[in-house]
Amino acid sequence: SDSSSDDLLAGLNPEQARAVEYRGPALLIVAGAGSGKTRVLTHRIASLIRSREAWPSQILAITFTNKAAAEMRERVEQLLGQAAEGMWISTFHSACVRILRREAERFGYVKSFTIYDSADSRALLKRIIKDLDLDHLGLTPAGTASRISKLKNELTDVDAFARSASANDPREQAFLEVFRRYSKELARAHAFDFDDLIGQVVFLFRAFPEVAALYQRRFRHILVDEYQDTNHAQYALIRELTRPVEPEVVAAATFEYAPREVAEDGSIPGAGLTVVGDSDQSIYAFRGADIRNITEFERDYPGAEVVMLEQNYRSTQNILSAANAVISNNFDRKAKNLWTGLGEGEKIVGFTGYSGHDEARFIADEIEDLHRDGVGYKDMAVFYRTNAQTRALEEIFIREAIPYRVLGGTKFYERAEIKDAIAYLITVANPFDEYALRRILNSPKRGIGPMTEAQLAAFAEGQEISFRDAMRRAAELGYGPKVRGSILTLSGILDHATSMALTAEGQKPTAVSDILNYILTETGYLDILRASKDPQDEARAENVDELLAVTREFSRNNPESGLVDFLTEVSLVAAADDLDDTSGTVSLMTLHTAKGLEYRAVFITGVEEGLLPHQMSADEAGGPSEERRLFYVGITRAREKLFLSLAMTRAQYGEISVALPSRFLQEIPPELISWKQSPGMVTSREGTQPRALNAQRGGPGGGHGGYSRRSNEPSSSSVGFRGGSSAAVSEPASGNMTSSLQKWREAKRAK
Ligand code: ATP
Ligand code: MG
Repeated sequence: SDSSSDDLLAGLNPEQARAVEYRGPALLIVAGAGSGKTRVLTHRIASLIRSREAWPSQILAITFTNKAAAEMRERVEQLLGQAAEGMWISTFHSACVRILRREAERFGYVKSFTIYDSADSRALLKRIIKDLDLDHLGLTPAGTASRISKLKNELTDVDAFARSASANDPREQAFLEVFRRYSKELARAHAFDFDDLIGQVVFLFRAFPEVAALYQRRFRHILVDEYQDTNHAQYALIRELTRPVEPEVVAAATFEYAPREVAEDGSIPGAGLTVVGDSDQSIYAFRGADIRNITEFERDYPGAEVVMLEQNYRSTQNILSAANAVISNNFDRKAKNLWTGLGEGEKIVGFTGYSGHDEARFIADEIEDLHRDGVGYKDMAVFYRTNAQTRALEEIFIREAIPYRVLGGTKFYERAEIKDAIAYLITVANPFDEYALRRILNSPKRGIGPMTEAQLAAFAEGQEISFRDAMRRAAELGYGPKVRGSILTLSGILDHATSMALTAEGQKPTAVSDILNYILTETGYLDILRASKDPQDEARAENVDELLAVTREFSRNNPESGLVDFLTEVSLVAAADDLDDTSGTVSLMTLHTAKGLEYRAVFITGVEEGLLPHQMSADEAGGPSEERRLFYVGITRAREKLFLSLAMTRAQYGEISVALPSRFLQEIPPELISWKQSPGMVTSREGTQPRALNAQRGGPGGGHGGYSRRSNEPSSSSVGFRGGSSAAVSEPASGNMTSSLQKWREAKRAK
């Protein structure tokens, strides 16, 4: 190969280089954490483009998060020294939204269909269960939502399910009724839920071979990161995309994309497929991820090349040894031989707090110490099993003015006023989405009560028109002048906003901020909040202002993108995910979100029974093993420093409960951990007796002498009890918290 491809191989080990250079139909890279799988994918893409074996537009790369996608794009462009326009690097969901937006009209949906996130789905299900009066059968919104999700991930639609459901099981029939109604309502609102995004593309491809052919022909190379976490629907999607285009279809179709070679028999060969994964990091079985997708790869793609990578380039030996020790407790896995050349490194630091606040304070102190020692905030991350754990952390971080951001936290977009504003935008984009419309019908209050709403709905149904059309014809309903005026005014505002959003082909789309601004002004939404004497409304007004700022930023960064693009981004990109990305902030996220990332210093919090492993996993087959993999994922994110912390008592759901150290702690050889404060040494400062935790074999409380000296001096200032009693930390008024984004901005200002 020429020198230009040599520098793509420089700095890769021979196995990595082999994976980059392999040119055949299918390639599977199975390897442990930090062995360079993602790096190989990136170099492979650059190599394919540079050698002109593929145009950028012929590449489809699937990553697990939007952040990972952005990073991969950046890396490829760096390697190529040029922008790689037209390359699709995205998550499964984003790629499918792109396909659906292009093709939706073929099967009767508007291009501007709404995307329902899981909260929207649950809200709809709640309503359906109530309407059908089925809650007495034990059907819950959460339960039905998760069951429907599982079915969709298996590509089982309502009709398929109806065929298999037992006819004389009333609960089963009730669920079927809910499922059917749910699907109908989604279709009526021109909406897809998250699982539909993938499944509908598969159905579309299967129903319209000529549509599938467009994409089969377009993508010459498909590369999937984190393949161990694909579910059946995602597997099927990849399967469809890598199929050859049959000669009849080639002959009949007209293609808009770059040409592909046509084989002698008139077909177009299937796309080359590269998948990388690590079965030890499979953490989405609960969402239908199927590890067989990886284990059966060679059967599905005969002649596939398999590459194994064994050197870890990320972590020091102590961290890697801990990870290896933990994961070796999982049965039915292939033993791996992961090693690192980065040296022993520092010991893992363990800490047990009296409460979640103690734990948080310890973390804040360590972060400040590290920062003083030259570790940037952006090189540190704090992981937790459940979102509820962020509260104690955020509180201390704000107090200590540690800049942070919560990744994947959807809090901001869950706030009522933000949901209202988004509902307005959805109503403008998708006139069929009755739910969004009904949400804002009387928000702000304009005298359209439940009675009026019901009358409008009945009228719409009777006339077989949309709810929005019913509003336009409010004059026919015999309302008094005030109500009629309210409805018509709102209808007029929405119509005007819709006309703002509609732009002719080739014209620059209207900025989302202009549309939102118009709505908020005309409806009086913002003025009413601002004029209110309720201090909560002041915070709400600030949040709405924040959203306006987000829309302005969006239009600035994406001048070609309009309202629908913005809404797509809101539903797919977890809030604040990519905001202020480059500034120096500590990242807070769940262990699930941490996948694929790496940080110089990592804190894993709440390493307790019931949290990690989570108690929900106890009843699930394979649950504890999956939790162990999750812990393994967390440990292997750390490059130099790893902190494992827990608390003796934890406030959850408004109750204080006593916590026990996680069984996983015992699986780490004690000599790898230095305890700053061990579970056995926690001293009571509030009159509660510490629990005897010494019973466990060789465990962190086992009294085997593995503690650091400091652990015997709980009053030492470096142990992290600066403020004295944890009672000094006041409980926040939970309803009154501003968004985390604002909070750290305030903290930053204060600094
Ligand atoms: P995970 O399983 O956690 O997703 P991974 O296998 O994808 O990990 P990467 O993230 O690609 O691993 O690589 C881990 C780290 O090691 C990165 O910082 C990467 O740049 C570095 N790395 C990978 N290969 C090499 C190499 N040959 N030489 C030096 N550094 C490398
Ligand atoms: Mg990776």
